[in-house]
Order: sequence, then structure tokens, then C-alpha cells
Amino acid sequence: MQLPKVNEKEMLAFLTGLLNTPSPTGLTEPAIRYVEQAFADLVGVTMKRTRKGALLISLPGQRQDAPRALTAHVDTLGAMVKEIKSNGRLALTQLGGYAWNTIEGEGCTVFAHSGEKVRGSILLTTPSAHVHAAQVSETKRSAETMEVRLDARTESEADTRALGIEVGDYVAFDPRVEVVNGFVRSRHLDDKAGVACIFAAAQAMNRAGVKPLQTTYVLISNYEEVGHGAAAGIPAEVQELVAVDMAAVGGGQTSDEFHSTLCVKDSGGPYHHGLSERLRSLADEAGIAYHVDTYPYYGSDGEAYWRAGGDVAVALIGPGVDASHNYERTHTDALLATAQWVMAYLLN
Ligand SMILES: [Zn+2]
Repeated sequence: MQLPKVNEKEMLAFLTGLLNTPSPTGLTEPAIRYVEQAFADLVGVTMKRTRKGALLISLPGQRQDAPRALTAHVDTLGAMVKEIKSNGRLALTQLGGYAWNTIEGEGCTVFAHSGEKVRGSILLTTPSAHVHAAQVSETKRSAETMEVRLDARTESEADTRALGIEVGDYVAFDPRVEVVNGFVRSRHLDDKAGVACIFAAAQAMNRAGVKPLQTTYVLISNYEEVGHGAAAGIPAEVQELVAVDMAAVGGGQTSDEFHSTLCVKDSGGPYHHGLSERLRSLADEAGIAYHVDTYPYYGSDGEAYWRAGGDVAVALIGPGVDASHNYERTHTDALLATAQWVMAYLLN
């Protein structure tokens, strides 16, 4: 099977730009717009927003008798202001599931209700080695023991309110993107890497002048990290859904940063066997090296659609991401393999 060639440089540029566009779940419009602008360059593509704020892209196919869908999500982990404390610092409530220690020391931006963007960092409430001694290492990291220190002169709740900050304001963590030796190290590769793989595949096919076998919708979802992203937005005529989301790398897993993985089971149970087997055959025929894995603590937008009543076959593929929901890393090889796999599926 001959596949169009992915432009690696443009794929990485798209990914880096998306990673640098903050999009904690609930505040995803700029990231949705970024993806929309990139797809607008492709010939024949039509797009619309769902009422929920997701982006539905339509890639016209050679046939329309069994429409398909792909999905990946632009929303990421993040936080919201829970409380403006009497010392002027901010207590947080989490958006998505992660351990508090994974954001310790990170720079952040508070998207103030006033429209201002206020910079700061996330620290333990007792962070100083010279003042708090053993508490620095011994304190359990939690909503109560972590806070945002704002880069503004504020020593009281009133000072912070004067900056325009209110309870409920969104907080985004710095992604700290770096591309080195083929590795991409950044927060939020989950699932901006998946979005980049779909974009790279669609762009390569578009430039080669080849259409998907079946008309295919791409849902760029915006509420995956809280469990209901693709619950809405997939057109009812769709018969198959392939979710493109990160593969879980770690001890006991077959997944790694250099391959794409087919996930056959996660916390939500097994995926669709027939569609999964077809994806394996397509990868074999296209010469794409891949892994098959199960993920112990994981759910996807494919399952969100199943739970919402979607009557489709669902499968899940994606690039291996190390240290997921932490300071993540993947490799260009995994991104290219995933983009190729998406093309092999779209064309057959
Ligand atoms: Zn994800």
C-alpha cells in the first residue's frame, strides 16, 4: 500500500503552535480556531462548530454509503480559581484528572474575568527550604496545600480582586514545548499530538489529490478530559469512529514513544474487535510498525460516544506518550506512524 508522504516539518510546526495555544477544558475556543484555520487551507473541506463548541470537519469521500468519523481533543488539563485567599494567592480546583505534584513549580496564566492575563506559578503553600524545612518534602500535595503565587503586588484578597481576578477564572499551565532529537517534550501532548496526526494525514492526502474512500467527519472535541467530549457532535449517519488519542507508556505496557498503538481495552472495556482487526491488517499492509496494548486507567472519547448511545464501531489508536498527565514526551516517529495509520484507514 502506497501512502502519501507526510510533511514532518509542517506537522511539528502545527503541533508546536497548538501546544502553545492554551486550552484548558472549558476555554478551548482559541485552540478550536487554530485548528479551523489550519484545515481551512485544505481543498474541499467544510467545517462547522457544534453548539457545544467543538469543531466538526467534513472530508468529502469517494463514496457516501458508509460515512466514518475520526476524533481527537484539543482540551487539556488545567484549573480554575477556587478561592482568592486572604494572602492574595489563589486556591485551585482541578479541570481533568491529575496528581497535584505534577504541576508543582509550573508557570501558569490566569485568564482573569476582566480580560487580563495574569502570570504566576504553582507552589506548595510551604515551599521554602529555609523557612519550611522538612515540610517541603513531607507535605502531601493537594488542593489545600497548593496555591498560585501571582506575579503582581498582592497581599490581600482585595489586591487580587483589583487585578480583575474572580472565582471561576481559568488557569492554564505552561506547556514548555521543546523539540529535540526527534522528541517532542511538552505538557498536553494528550491530545494535541493526536490532533496533529489527523491534520498531517488530511494535509498529505489533500496535497496528493486523494480523497478518503468514504466521506469522513473529524470531530475536534473540547470536553474529553472531563469525560463527555464526543458524547455529542458525531453525525448520526456515521458507522465507524476511530478515536486518535495518546497511548499509555510505562512499565508493563507494550506502548512506547516511537510507535503508534492500537488500544484494544481500557477502563471502559474492550473496543470493537472487527474494526480493531481491520486497523491491524491495514497497518500490516502499509508497513507501519505498531503495538497493541491495554490501558489500565484510561477512557476515551470513543467510549464517551458509546455511553451517549452512539451505535457505531469504535477503535482507538494513537502515539505513545511518556509520563502522561505530567510533563509528557513523545517522538516524531510515533506521530508519523499515527498519521500514516490514519491515512491507511481513510483510503481503504
Ligand atoms: Zn486524551
